[in-house]
Amino acid sequence: MSKETSAVVKEACQRIGRERHNLLDILLEIQEKLRCVDQEAMQLIGEELSISSVTVEGVVSFYAFLSQEPKGKVIIRLCDDIVDRFAGIEAVAEVLCEEFGIQMGETTEDGKISLEYTPCIGMCDQAPAALVNDVVVTNLDVRSAREMAKNLKKHLNPAKLVKKLGDGNNANKWIKSMVQNNILRRGEVIFNDEGTPEAGLKHALTKTPKEVIKTIQKSYLKGRGGAGFPTGMKWNFARASEGARRYIFCNADEGEPGTFKDRVLLTECPDLMFEGMTIAAYAVGSDSGIVYLRGEYTYLHQFLEKVLAERRKQGLLGENICGKKGFHFDIRIQMGAGSYICGEETSLISSCEGHRGNPKTRPPYPAQEGYLGAPTVVNNVETLCRVPRILEKGAEWFASIGTKESTGTKLLSVSGDCESPGVYEVAWGITVRELLKMVGAEEAAIVVVGGPSGQLIGRTAFERRIAFEDLPTGGSIVVFGIERSVLEIVHYYMEFFIDESCGYCTPCRVGNVLLKKRIEKIMDGLGELEDIAYLKDLSKTVIMTSRCGLGITAPNPILSSLEHFPLVYSAIVKKRHDGLQQGFDIKRALEKSREIAKRRSRIYDRAYGEKPISVENIG
Ligand code: SF4
Repeated sequence: MSKETSAVVKEACQRIGRERHNLLDILLEIQEKLRCVDQEAMQLIGEELSISSVTVEGVVSFYAFLSQEPKGKVIIRLCDDIVDRFAGIEAVAEVLCEEFGIQMGETTEDGKISLEYTPCIGMCDQAPAALVNDVVVTNLDVRSAREMAKNLKKHLNPAKLVKKLGDGNNANKWIKSMVQNNILRRGEVIFNDEGTPEAGLKHALTKTPKEVIKTIQKSYLKGRGGAGFPTGMKWNFARASEGARRYIFCNADEGEPGTFKDRVLLTECPDLMFEGMTIAAYAVGSDSGIVYLRGEYTYLHQFLEKVLAERRKQGLLGENICGKKGFHFDIRIQMGAGSYICGEETSLISSCEGHRGNPKTRPPYPAQEGYLGAPTVVNNVETLCRVPRILEKGAEWFASIGTKESTGTKLLSVSGDCESPGVYEVAWGITVRELLKMVGAEEAAIVVVGGPSGQLIGRTAFERRIAFEDLPTGGSIVVFGIERSVLEIVHYYMEFFIDESCGYCTPCRVGNVLLKKRIEKIMDGLGELEDIAYLKDLSKTVIMTSRCGLGITAPNPILSSLEHFPLVYSAIVKKRHDGLQQGFDIKRALEKSREIAKRRSRIYDRAYGEKPISVENIG
């Protein structure tokens, strides 16, 4: 074993702690210092933590930001979201490949640069975007990509790529990022300047914990991450569950393509979020909180640590908070490592425990038995930011905004083909048409409400309301113009789910691949009416038999596009009368093996030219 590997691994284990739940932090540090976590490192980590090296390898192989092969000193991760694709990320990739003399997925021979694609990095409002190590580079185009490559060749320092700082706290000395907040509508709850800092916490501490939970219940606050579970009920379950300790988790792992509103809250309202966590801790009886921050937002990490340190200084965290005897609570930040599924609450807990981010079987629910077996509340960033406002201004005030089943406001991240992409705080119940007018997209033809796990809708549904009782969303609204292809969007989303599936259960692991293949068949002009029935049946099976939210929602793009864009499908699929299989194209089927063998089939080329060949015209 190399001396360097041994020293780095031992130092990381010693400093971070040899407990299993520290594994992800240890791996992230080793990845950063050695540019990989190779077999030798995994062996030694296993010995240090008294677990098998196979277990360590299982965790390393799970996360996109960890690798067993050495990566470049600078890793350029281009955001491969559909919005970035339509905005020109492929042209950016071409320039970078040309400049560095490598292909996407490769590392330069001198070990300086790696080029990769990555799923949504939460910058759809300033696409195309990339992560260069931890530095976010936005609004890329062919010219700026070439300039970036030339600069990196000179100094290999991603921080120097930031020439102009973004607005608000993006310019803070602990962030120093070119990211823009793009807050384009300030509603009554979150971005309302009338709120008094810490008033919610101070008011909560004048009540009993049960009274605090009652207030949240009376406000009908529902989780803002997408699932919409009533927050007060979740707190009540956790409080009622037996456990020597209870935990408050903040889910800051927004990975739903098209969602970036938590990024803005983390940048502009971290105190509000920590205040919300502290109130939750008081209500539930917790002394320990964890913020699970997605790896893509590492650029906010230092800043958030500074805010936490300042809160400790002010007596807003630590012992006897705000002078309340016996109320002790503190928060730590757990970095993620590039995994969409870790946004699911049980996966997030698995990840924090040092395991692969696999979802857990429920029940027991996290509020009963979560992190390290203790009752755990997992709330989204936006949910927690609403809590102090409710305590400050009252449950009735909050419940008077929005609709009966969807109280308060909602932050929407709007991107795609619209004039003003950004974050909008609106009252629940706004129609899609009203929103499109607000964002400058009245000509939109397709709107994806809730990201890939939500629904694709067309113009006939634009009078529908954005609310839990109609069209729910965790925050993602992606707008597409008439020139975009419904099937291309659906295909991209299926690819996304296939890549992000943890692979645990067969319906999700295999079913989604089969669904994607059938979409490809239709896109290739080989679709038949039977394929529509197949897509519907298999989608329902995947939904009914998958273990977690990813599998349960993955077929949504297919089902909702079939419902809202039936003409797109019927214009392509053909009805067969002769019983022959239209979908089999022998030339296409042989193409792959011919590619591998580097051979051409002269017989077929001579006989059929470049036209697709089906069974019937061979016969
Ligand atoms: Fe994993 Fe998919 Fe099964 Fe969820 S549904 S546990 S992501 S394989």
